[in-house]
Amino acid sequence: MNHLQKVGAVALILSCILSFKCESLPGLGGLGGGAGASDAEMADLGAAAFEDLKKKIPVSNDPRANAYVRCVANSIISITQDPTGVKDWEIVVFQEPSANAFALPGGKIGVHTGLFPVATNQDMLAAVLGHEVGHVIKRHGASRMQSGTLAGVGVGMMDKMISADNPLKGTIMAGIGLGAQYGVVMPFGRSQESEADLVGLDLMAKAGFDPTQSIMLWKNMSAAGGSKTPQFMSTHPSSETRIKELQANMNKALSTRAQAQSLGKNPACRL
Ligand SMILES: [Zn+2]
Repeated sequence: MNHLQKVGAVALILSCILSFKCESLPGLGGLGGGAGASDAEMADLGAAAFEDLKKKIPVSNDPRANAYVRCVANSIISITQDPTGVKDWEIVVFQEPSANAFALPGGKIGVHTGLFPVATNQDMLAAVLGHEVGHVIKRHGASRMQSGTLAGVGVGMMDKMISADNPLKGTIMAGIGLGAQYGVVMPFGRSQESEADLVGLDLMAKAGFDPTQSIMLWKNMSAAGGSKTPQFMSTHPSSETRIKELQANMNKALSTRAQAQSLGKNPACRL
């Protein structure tokens, strides 16, 4: 930032504080709201990152894999209340042997075909996607886009920095949740992980999936470690704490699921 930009930024911050309209400031984020960046900025960044990934990793055209992932993802999306302004969720299957899946701000969902041998049924896939959608609707990406190495880089600039081969590209991608794909591991914080687990558990149950399978998923993830650790595990370490928290909330999730089923929510997605 040069001197003139600093003066401009200070003026913007002051007017933001005085008018209480902080959310639309480019690069400054909702100063009053605690989030690091606006929803619109994060959506632009998510879209740019998703386009970059589609160039880097082959997209699967397998109709069965696509129909299966769409079936699970759409079941979750249909009951998700998203406060970030996503209009349409884009769902892409990547032909990629590493076990991973992600959701990005702006409503972008990606699933690697390598996840299928670890998340072996619709309920486990729903657990992964519910968790990932949880990160998006709780705006977990936004706060860390303006911390650490990325502090001082306006989020509004980052989408442009992704398209060029910028030295910060890997860090930006990791900040938004695509670290493993770019060789930069940057897990979310423990409280964010815990929140995403609980939101995910609730979403999968509301969609009619079996919430107990979320625990099976984490057991499978751990069991798949050793020779070939699932990529998802690099940013989502499995732990006893994670499983204990899911167990502690299971009764509530089971009654949520029973309610969903009585409303006719019985997803039957098969690969
Ligand atoms: Zn997570």
